[in-house]
Amino acid sequence: MRITEVEVFLTGNEYGLLADARMTFDDVFVVHGVRVVRVPDDGRLIVCMPSRQKQDECPDCGAKVPYRNDYCGKCGAKLGRRNVPADRRGATRIDLDIVHPISRDYREYIDYVILEAYQKEFDRGKAERAQAGNHPQRAGGGTPPGGTRDAG
Ligand SMILES: [Zn+2]
Repeated sequence: MRITEVEVFLTGNEYGLLADARMTFDDVFVVHGVRVVRVPDDGRLIVCMPSRQKQDECPDCGAKVPYRNDYCGKCGAKLGRRNVPADRRGATRIDLDIVHPISRDYREYIDYVILEAYQKEFDRGKAERAQAGNHPQRAGGGTPPGGTRDAG
């Protein structure tokens, strides 16, 4: 199965979530909700498959509430930090993949295609910003205003 089209939507962030993407397989099947994320610890870029958050129930009103939410979205009850119950395999992850590759090779193929498309979109955005003479503020470590910019 080949990825025949990728669209990348930059968030404008430099850390955390950098972009949303969707990919088309064999011109007939589209997957939304792919994400490019910068890992805070080492700055490396990773591709995250579409996922949903595991949810529990509000003790006050019974509404479904994602584990990361501190408050119930329906009744406003304060929920605080809760432990995620382990699944059958003992995993206590909050994010559950909805679709994902099952071979390492295919995973690497997706990572390569998505990160390449992200880089292309990032470079295009950078070129447009430079053309508009509009230098976005960087959160530390960036080129100071009036500083040198590389041509590439
Ligand atoms: Zn509630």
